[in-house]
Amino acid sequence: MRVELLGVGFDNVNMSEAVQRGVELLQSEGAHYVVTPNPEIVETCRENPAAMEAVNAADLVIADGIGVVYGSRIRKMPLKERVPGIEFGTEMLAQCEKLGKTVYLLGCKPGVAEKAAENMKKTYPALQIVGTADGYFKDDAAAAAKVRESGADLLFVCLGAPKQEIFMYKYGEATGAHLMMGLGGSLDVFAGNVKRAPKIYQDLNLEWFYRLMKNPSRIGRMMKLPLFLIHVMGEKK
Ligand code: UDP
Repeated sequence: MRVELLGVGFDNVNMSEAVQRGVELLQSEGAHYVVTPNPEIVETCRENPAAMEAVNAADLVIADGIGVVYGSRIRKMPLKERVPGIEFGTEMLAQCEKLGKTVYLLGCKPGVAEKAAENMKKTYPALQIVGTADGYFKDDAAAAAKVRESGADLLFVCLGAPKQEIFMYKYGEATGAHLMMGLGGSLDVFAGNVKRAPKIYQDLNLEWFYRLMKNPSRIGRMMKLPLFLIHVMGEKK
């Protein structure tokens, strides 16, 4: 059973359970996808029914963002832990290398996926990356067809929310990939264009604060976090 917060159902899994489930899905017939909602995405879903439908139709919904974990505690249905999408994605790359599964990187500005692929190959030399494409395509069906031609098993979909969730929902089958992961700006991190917060911030659950300091223009987006908690408290009544 999923833990439901403001209409979005989260799977109550820790990192190793999420990876185990990811590997099962990767090895199953058909198309599957993982979404990693944070409070901002939950707020988007409340306003956008198509986003809500796409998020809840995912095969695995992991809580990316400490705000979601706090929200689950407020509702007295505590999620085990925060599972950062970028770490889940990294673990899945290691699994793909081990299992001989192929990977396609879709999303972000031109050149980012290629740079990310280069860096991934340094860490996982046997990893088979069979394709890359930027995230500014006009024709969704054509982008999905390109993935299918590559024969990729695992697909990174990094188009920002809710575009990536809706793409996976509508075109997932068409890509032919067995597992897709909606991972926002994570290719920017793999490419080295964006740095993750130092470990101390991660351990103190203050990664969001670090990102805000580095990029104050995110304040508008960040304000969705208190709004999310206020809405969760309201839902309790
Ligand atoms: N992006 C994209 N296509 C679009 C819109 C955005 O590929 O049509 C990319 C954008 O370049 C960025 C990534 O999506 O690299 C994710 O952006 P965001 O900052 O929303 O990521 P998050 O905060 O969710 O990690």
